Amino acid sequence: MNNRIFLSSPHMSGNEQAYIKEAFDTNWIAPLGANVDGFEAEIATYAGSEGASAVSSGTAAIHLALDLLGVGQGDSVFCSSLTFIATANPILYLGAEPVFIDSDDESWNMSPIALERAFVESKAEGNLPKAVLIVNLYGQSAKMDELMTLCDAYGVPVIEDAAESLGASYKGKKSGTFGKFGVFSFNGNKIITTSGGGMLVSDDIEQLKRSRFLATQARDQAKHYQHSVVGYNYRMSNVLAGIGRAQLEILDERVNARRAVFERYVEALGEIDGLEFMPELEDTYGNRWLTTLTLDPEKIELTPYNLIDALAEENIEARPVWKPLHLQPLFEGCKYYSHGENDDVSLRLFERGLCLPSGSNMTVEEQEQVIEVLKKHLIVVNSKV
Ligand SMILES: *Cc1c(COP(=O)(O)O)cnc(C)c1O
Repeated sequence: MNNRIFLSSPHMSGNEQAYIKEAFDTNWIAPLGANVDGFEAEIATYAGSEGASAVSSGTAAIHLALDLLGVGQGDSVFCSSLTFIATANPILYLGAEPVFIDSDDESWNMSPIALERAFVESKAEGNLPKAVLIVNLYGQSAKMDELMTLCDAYGVPVIEDAAESLGASYKGKKSGTFGKFGVFSFNGNKIITTSGGGMLVSDDIEQLKRSRFLATQARDQAKHYQHSVVGYNYRMSNVLAGIGRAQLEILDERVNARRAVFERYVEALGEIDGLEFMPELEDTYGNRWLTTLTLDPEKIELTPYNLIDALAEENIEARPVWKPLHLQPLFEGCKYYSHGENDDVSLRLFERGLCLPSGSNMTVEEQEQVIEVLKKHLIVVNSKV
């Protein structure tokens, strides 16, 4: 059996140990310290935001962003439906109610048409959301111009979940810097990793200051331990921030490597009738975190699960596209706005979608093994049609 080929595994640069060593040498093992300060400053510079706040996960960053916007009991939050559960869980932590918004076919991300319907209805009901959570799926930017125009018109702040899109850009501006807050993740499977961690970015320095206060148990200024509001223990450790600093140095290389993986898949499989890759929006530069595609059931008899199983037999990991949150048992009864009256795009993408191994450390030979398995199954089926 060949070595397992993963969907997306950690890819160290080699420089991580130097930063970690420095943390050890200075005994800054405890949370915070020079690596945290450095990592925050470097991310802010990279993204082009005024500041950044390093936390223990992307989920924690979303939780803090919602809290900073005052989301609480009885509030609603508009949220992309086609995403990982981590986007929406923090809405529930705060006792608020998610309202899910469908995707469109061009971006796979939040549909401006569905968002507009949601705004019109919620305004008529006198129940505008406290925030809009926009996800940039698989490294592709959402239609930020259209979405921001709507959110600005209704005066509702935006949180950009850029956990999957670090390094991507939209019309020359870095993903994660469009809303009031942007969120990055350094989980082990993301484009760069600290083994676990996240970052909140914003141009609002005061709010970032408050995020650090909330993320360290919300301790008031007093000689004793005094607390007036609920806080969390969410700051990033100085050791892990060291890993992040070295990873950030090679982020652009990782983006190029993932885009090259995507190009090789397109070259090998692009001609197969009924197979379509996730498009790239005009004027945007995705990081192609995961190469994803759809299989048209009218043209290809195989389902994504058939291919996932076939790949698994060769010790290759592939995954379905995220199951939309409006279809999750956890969110039963939550409101949902589909793209068209009878067109549920995120459901269609889920039923047809497949994520392929896309790691920047996957060798060309390994990718050829993946392609060979896919071709074997797809072309046999295709030639029957
Ligand atoms: C990974 C991910 C998160 C959460 O990040 P963690 O660091 O794992 O908490 C949030 N949203 C999306 C879309 C993700 O893919």
